[in-house]
Amino acid sequence: NLTHRLSGVIKTLRGETRLSENNIQDALREVRLALLEADVALPVVKDFIARVKEKAIGHEVMTSLTPGQALVGVVHQELIAIIGGEKADLNLATVPPAVILMAGLQGAGKTTSSGKLAKWLMENKKKKVLLVSCDIYRPAAIHQLELLANQVGADFFPVEEGQKPGEIGAAALDYARRHHHEVMIVDTAGRLGIDEAMMQEISELEALLRPIETLFVVDAMQGQDAVNTAKAFSDALPLTGVILTKLDGDARGGAALSVKHITGKPIKFAGIAEKLTGLEAFHPDRMASRILGMGDVLGLIEEAQRSADQQEAEKLIKKMKSGKAFDLDDFKAQFQQMRNMGGMSALMDKLPAQFSQAAQNVKVDDKIINRTEGIINSMTKQERAKPEILKASRKRRIAAGAGVSVQEVNRLLAQFEQARKMMKMMNKGGMAKMMRGIRG
Ligand code: GDP
Ligand code: MG
Repeated sequence: NLTHRLSGVIKTLRGETRLSENNIQDALREVRLALLEADVALPVVKDFIARVKEKAIGHEVMTSLTPGQALVGVVHQELIAIIGGEKADLNLATVPPAVILMAGLQGAGKTTSSGKLAKWLMENKKKKVLLVSCDIYRPAAIHQLELLANQVGADFFPVEEGQKPGEIGAAALDYARRHHHEVMIVDTAGRLGIDEAMMQEISELEALLRPIETLFVVDAMQGQDAVNTAKAFSDALPLTGVILTKLDGDARGGAALSVKHITGKPIKFAGIAEKLTGLEAFHPDRMASRILGMGDVLGLIEEAQRSADQQEAEKLIKKMKSGKAFDLDDFKAQFQQMRNMGGMSALMDKLPAQFSQAAQNVKVDDKIINRTEGIINSMTKQERAKPEILKASRKRRIAAGAGVSVQEVNRLLAQFEQARKMMKMMNKGGMAKMMRGIRG
């Protein structure tokens, strides 16, 4: 994956002080291959590489970073930027009913996503939702949506025999107004490929219904092809967002990059399971991590090296490698690094998911950092190395020395225990190995 390739990139750039057209060429080739492997469409890869190149060339390498790290930093930032920086919410700010039009190829997941979205809106936004099917070509399609409506407890618009999509749309709008629906989700017919009649029909529906959201539903497994589909839909319709479905499969995430790049519209939801709960708000940073093949460890390491002192990081890695016990001095050093990195909250955002759960249990906020240092400073060297020896009398002495209560000393020791567990976990998870790999 990309991570693996990037660690190779870092090695090729050792000893350079400035990134130049020449010295980044091999590295960029690796990045290009990695993106293609992740199923990003070729034109998108080309644009992406051009952007990275422009940003990277002449980039002064900070003293604490190797040139390879600097380039990886650029790649990583551009990746998040292109997938869409901030998380984008659904817009419902209009006179009800807020119409959401679903567009996309057959099999993309429009009908399923309509049902899921109805459920999501009912549960998270407490909306009264009407589901409407304009897919008159396959009788089973209308029934499929009706079943979903029943399952999620949303209202379903009864279509009459022989009604055309436009007639259904107009009648449904009237129905929704009379029944005070706040949101009306309109499912449409798709074709196996892009075709004129389909585009014509959905354009007319769009003009008639004036939806506040026109969502392009696309299957993440489409990989390279997503780019053509996205282009056709985005040319024909004023899209407002994207639903990327079937991310639970072995889609490598490249479609996210392609679709965002082509449509310029934010991915608002991700389909992550067939079942009706399998829809979630899309997080660009998580998708960037998926493409990178891990959590935002790159960023974490980069910052660790930028701000905390290199030797401290080196020592920590050595220690993790050797499996030597994590003690209160290390704990203190970690707190100091955290402060340099912009506090605990900044750090938590950067940990891969499996660690952030553990990190959450540590529950340290930035104010506590100073007090913690004070307490640890009041301990003897021996006590720091072996906190087990701390009995009540010693704790009282430390508390008095640091000007805190004994409870606070106990709380710190409990946090330390959590952190020690976390370090063990990270060690098992190969964090040390990863860090070594990335540093070349
Ligand atoms: P439509 O033709 O665009 O309406 O597509 P459907 O909603 O009928 O979905 C086509 C198939 O994809 C169905 O079998 C769905 O169950 C499945 N599907 C849709 N979304 C997801 C998803 O997020 N994950 C998985 N695993 N399957 C999905
Ligand atoms: Mg359908």
